[in-house]
Amino acid sequence: MHKNIEYIMVLVRRVPNKKLSWYLRCIKRLETIVELDKNTWYLRPLPKLGDRRQYYIVRYDEKTESFTCTCYDKSAIGGSIRKLKMCTHVGAVILKLALGS
Ligand SMILES: [Zn+2]
Repeated sequence: MHKNIEYIMVLVRRVPNKKLSWYLRCIKRLETIVELDKNTWYLRPLPKLGDRRQYYIVRYDEKTESFTCTCYDKSAIGGSIRKLKMCTHVGAVILKLALGS
């Protein structure tokens, strides 16, 4: 449990002003991340967290210095809302990078 507190503190510094449940969802996703290359990650879905797709891909764009996720697709229901709020797939990748793992 206190590992979770450490993870939350790491993540709060990078992504402030989220609810506790948001941080906890990012932590649950940590083990689902597979790095495909320096700026691309594959995430296994967690149906318990409401994931409906086979997988998610998070990308880091060096030009805009921002992350995008395939759940931000405009065709996806709620996609643009999720982009505005930052999804927990991206949050999980940010946490993984912060932990250096
Ligand atoms: Zn996402």
